[in-house]
Amino acid sequence: MKATAQDIFEKDAKDYLPVFNRYKIVLDHGDGVYVYDNTGKKYIDFLGGIAVNVLGHAYKPLVDAVAGQAGRLIHCSNLYYTQPQADAASKLVELSGLGKAFFGNSGAEANEGAIKIARKYAHGINPGKSQIITAWDSFHGRTIATLTATGQPKYHEGFGPLPEGFDYVHYNDIAELEKLMSDKTCAVMLETIQGEGGVYPPKDDYLKKVRSLCDKYHALLILDEIQAGIGRSGKFFAYENYGVKPDIVTLAKGLAGGVPIGAFIVTDEVAMAFHAGDHGTTFGGNPLACAAANVVLDTVPRKEFLKNVEEVGAYFRQKLEDLQKKYPSLITEIRGKGLILGAQLSKPGRDIVNEVLEKGAIINCTAGSVLRFIPPLIITKEQVDEVLGILASVLPKYVD
Ligand SMILES: *Cc1c(COP(=O)(O)O)cnc(C)c1O
Repeated sequence: MKATAQDIFEKDAKDYLPVFNRYKIVLDHGDGVYVYDNTGKKYIDFLGGIAVNVLGHAYKPLVDAVAGQAGRLIHCSNLYYTQPQADAASKLVELSGLGKAFFGNSGAEANEGAIKIARKYAHGINPGKSQIITAWDSFHGRTIATLTATGQPKYHEGFGPLPEGFDYVHYNDIAELEKLMSDKTCAVMLETIQGEGGVYPPKDDYLKKVRSLCDKYHALLILDEIQAGIGRSGKFFAYENYGVKPDIVTLAKGLAGGVPIGAFIVTDEVAMAFHAGDHGTTFGGNPLACAAANVVLDTVPRKEFLKNVEEVGAYFRQKLEDLQKKYPSLITEIRGKGLILGAQLSKPGRDIVNEVLEKGAIINCTAGSVLRFIPPLIITKEQVDEVLGILASVLPKYVD
């Protein structure tokens, strides 16, 4: 017998570690930009599994690639070669112009690997060169090292002792970074566009100036594009918008369209810091995940695909700005690029998100009071109108 939503809520409450603040729906299946709960209710999905389902749900070429690969070889360990992995690595190296790629299973693992290789590289220059500078309000993951890199004290509480050598600066404040950097700096690690912290893009020439400081002190620039990469900004890598190139870039979320994967890509010079045995993973980059990644990597970088992200993103932004003009006391700022957009509210957003959900649209609130839109990249202007129509019908109640 099919369980009811109530059955599932009760099972979850009894047996699942209660770390998530979940919305009270049980999702069952999806199709394109829509998902359906277990009662058959339809929702338009403008969260996309938190920037993961870049090709939408049940995208036929992705389903076929995963099913086909599952029937041939799901996994074989990294002790052997597979074509899907070799292909996916080549595509990432070609797209980034960097030197070597490595696959893990998540964003946290991608960043963990990036931190490890940066430390090893800097250690080769000078064993004291270990400082890693990250930003306040950043998000880099939940492992002990990546949560330390995450500049949000609320995520650190109770998990000490945390690894040494991490310092924090305010994102977009170049003077503060300059003051903190020295020959002891191993790496500066930033999100190209801050996501979880509230959707903050870099201002003016901030990233270019960060790049110059890194060059001056022979420190590595690590850009975390786990959320903003994979076409979301309108370019395949978000850094392409800002005229910089990192030494290391990390990807995950959208990279395999929903199959767990993470990757870090490094320059050939940085790659030389790692030798056989220095890093590894059992699952990472297995043929199943890489077959999925290959579909994303054959689709998202296409000119027409990225053009849609840019055009629909610009349309979406304009419509959000129109809403802001209508409700200036409630919506105080619109931020973002392409299809990572945030509407800063003057009050908490959770109730709005819940009401919008009730009316059939999935959106998200981050950093307490920022409505964050990170939909599948295949959305249309009509679908933007659909979601904003629902949002607009909910907002008046929240205007003081
Ligand atoms: C989601 C996210 C991570 C962590 O990824 P997980 O797959 O949850 O480990 C790291 N960095 C950024 C910018 C993210 O958005």
